[in-house]
Amino acid sequence: MNKQELIEQLESLEASQQCFIHGDDTEIFEKDVEALELAITIIKEWDVDSSDYLRECTECGHLMNEGYVIENGIEYYCSDECLHKHITEEEYQRLYDNGDGDSYWTEWR
Ligand SMILES: [Zn+2]
Repeated sequence: MNKQELIEQLESLEASQQCFIHGDDTEIFEKDVEALELAITIIKEWDVDSSDYLRECTECGHLMNEGYVIENGIEYYCSDECLHKHITEEEYQRLYDNGDGDSYWTEWR
């Protein structure tokens, strides 16, 4: 089950529990709906956090949402400065290979 299906299931559960709120003096159904709303919120936020939009710079440890990918993610660098501590411009150009290589600058969103 993917996250979207999980959210849809919780939302349909929430909708069915919502039908019982009126005329319920115990507030149990109301608490159910609150709990389900919390769960949906958590899953939606977790969805963002666990998506691929942060990487850690191999050199300085900075979290980044854009930067260099080296050899498909063996290494990541946040800046030219960090990149060139490990890889010369010539080496990088060879790895980059005019966009055909597995090393490039990118953004994770
Ligand atoms: Zn860095």
